[in-house]
Amino acid sequence: MDKWPIGVFTSVDAGLGVRLDVAQELEIPTVQLHAPHQQTRTPQAADAFLKRCSDARITLTAVFGGFEGESYADIATTARTVGLVPKETCAARVQEMKEISDFAKILGCETVALHIGFVPQDASSESYQDLLDVTRDLLDHVASNSQQLNLETGQESADHLLAFIADVGRDNLFINFDPANMILYGTGAPIEALQKVGHLVRSVHCKDATWAAINKRGTEWGTEVSLGEGDVGMETYLRTLDELGYEGPLTIEREIANDQERQKADIGQAVRLLRELRKKITS
Ligand code: MG
Repeated sequence: MDKWPIGVFTSVDAGLGVRLDVAQELEIPTVQLHAPHQQTRTPQAADAFLKRCSDARITLTAVFGGFEGESYADIATTARTVGLVPKETCAARVQEMKEISDFAKILGCETVALHIGFVPQDASSESYQDLLDVTRDLLDHVASNSQQLNLETGQESADHLLAFIADVGRDNLFINFDPANMILYGTGAPIEALQKVGHLVRSVHCKDATWAAINKRGTEWGTEVSLGEGDVGMETYLRTLDELGYEGPLTIEREIANDQERQKADIGQAVRLLRELRKKITS
């Protein structure tokens, strides 16, 4: 694969991301897939999806897990509902994530990814130790499928994420870096964070956002905006990835609810921006 192929999110049945025919029309060569619901995680569905990808000359680069009951309504709700951290749903979600890993294997995909949730601050707390245990258990399953797990960034500072990954102590745990999330969650300047965690970055999102007011960062969302119009600094972002030796896909993440035309236009503009910057930086 060429350096920095453009990518976009797609889904089989989750109603998220861009339809494959739209990706094909925009000449996007790679996709990350939102994991389908359980009833759609079948060998037949996998075959049908792979056939459509191959017809559109699109390569699947990662399968993202997500769970029933997760809500990103505001930061506090996200902390309470997302990932493997909430205790009540943890066991069932780990089991489901293992099944998603199995489905990704049928798809021939070596990378699964997820928002693990807000990693507890206190490393000596029971909740932190529990999270280490379930993460190791999941990673062993993922390894048995010859896969790696990439954690989505944003809910932790770079330092906290690094400490957690070191504490987990497995060699198939990496990072899906999302610069906009650092801004949206108020967890740190994205380029600085990327420089810290860069050696573990195996996939990235291209997304942009503007910061919340300074006294509200970390408690209120920043604002997601079109690529290139926010506070990430796309050229600096790509130049930093270049310096780090990252050559993988540049996966555009942009959800615009209930407006497929606007989403398509927005993603088309993002594709143009990334192609232009890629040319400028790599030639
Ligand atoms: Mg993301």
